[in-house]
Amino acid sequence: MNNAINKKTWNTLRNSLFKRKGIMIFLFISCKTGSKTNKKRELPMLFELAKRPIFFKSRLMALVSIMVWSTLTAFTVPENVKEREEKLFSLLAGYKLKTVVIDPGHGGKDPGALGTGRYKDTEADVVLSIGLKLREYIQQNYPDVKVVMTRTTDVFIPLRERTEIANKANADLFISLHCNSASAAAYGAETYVLGMHKTEAQMNVAKRENQVIYLEDDYKEHYSNFDPTSPESMIALSLMQNAFLDKSIAFADMIQYQFRERVKRHDRGVRQAGFWVISRTVMPAVLIELGFVSNSAEEDYLNSDLGRTYIASGIYRAFKEYKISLEGYDSSQKNRPSTTDKSSSENTDREEQNDEVLEEMPTNENLIFKVQLMASGTKRALKPENFKGLKDVEEMEDDGLYKYTVGNTTNFEKAIKLQREVRETAYKDAYIIALYNGKKISLPEALKILKNNN
Ligand SMILES: [Zn+2]
Repeated sequence: MNNAINKKTWNTLRNSLFKRKGIMIFLFISCKTGSKTNKKRELPMLFELAKRPIFFKSRLMALVSIMVWSTLTAFTVPENVKEREEKLFSLLAGYKLKTVVIDPGHGGKDPGALGTGRYKDTEADVVLSIGLKLREYIQQNYPDVKVVMTRTTDVFIPLRERTEIANKANADLFISLHCNSASAAAYGAETYVLGMHKTEAQMNVAKRENQVIYLEDDYKEHYSNFDPTSPESMIALSLMQNAFLDKSIAFADMIQYQFRERVKRHDRGVRQAGFWVISRTVMPAVLIELGFVSNSAEEDYLNSDLGRTYIASGIYRAFKEYKISLEGYDSSQKNRPSTTDKSSSENTDREEQNDEVLEEMPTNENLIFKVQLMASGTKRALKPENFKGLKDVEEMEDDGLYKYTVGNTTNFEKAIKLQREVRETAYKDAYIIALYNGKKISLPEALKILKNNN
């Protein structure tokens, strides 16, 4: 393994030597004298960084920064190699999910949908219980991620306060939890992103969830221009969310995938409607209708501890997939080196595993990675001019959406590389999807298959 790294480092050095002789010679000497494995592994990543104008305004700045870094680290061994690598990787990916807001709808004087009347828990109680479980799962697995709840008890929080909480927290993701209510026959789960509704039924869901506005004392003052039934009003309403729509749809899609494939709920798809609470958040935002409390069987499920656990786990797995797709690697707790156990054999073991992930990702011929550019409710002709000049775009129809992808590789690292290229040149929210035997699976599942391959 060490030889492979040496060779790789040397190749990177040699290739770059022609362009920036001075700095490369300096780095090479510094690397050799410092002579720590960690540093050798980080060097190729630093070269990557140095090439990016976004991090360094000029070559000179890059040179000075790397010289300072080399000098500072020449005689130190970083305590946690993985952590440093993660930081570098997240810089390369250009994005890190640090804060998530979970918003259990309703509460206090607003019980939400009442259900069939067989349970004392109403929508407000169901979504709070599931929201708290979701918080627990994220905190357990991602202690670095800050989880903000809009409420943790049965209290009334006005809609505008919920969005304020999310915006003030500078959140990277907003998840609003609700339960549906309609005729006794309707059942299933659906995830909404902001947009113009396509059917009256979808508009009615938004209407019902927005109704809470009228429970607020001074609603006229705060929501005077809000009319989700008019297209003009919806366009104005969507302005703030538009920038995040691709990411919101991607996350909504991952949630519905989990509900359908793992939680075994009836999948009603990703939908759009004018929900006030996801219109004012300046981050990707979804509103999940977890199921119908007006349907007896589904109400039973939503009121059972097992049902709540499954649903919260499903959303957690979608969260995990979304995070990996943005950051390009898995930073969850169980993928980290242990900080308490310092036994040397353990550490070597983990470092070796880490090398494998970075250097020699295994492949599986039945497992294909593609980079999804966008999803759309309307079909587009597969011409480069429709996709910011990208060639060989493919179309997949899935869950009522047309999804457009590039790339076709069994190599996850190649997919990450392609994802970076696409993000830099065309679609900044592009992300990797995985197909196993032609069927879409989540990224964590795909990575598990690759790991078990060995
Ligand atoms: Zn609701």
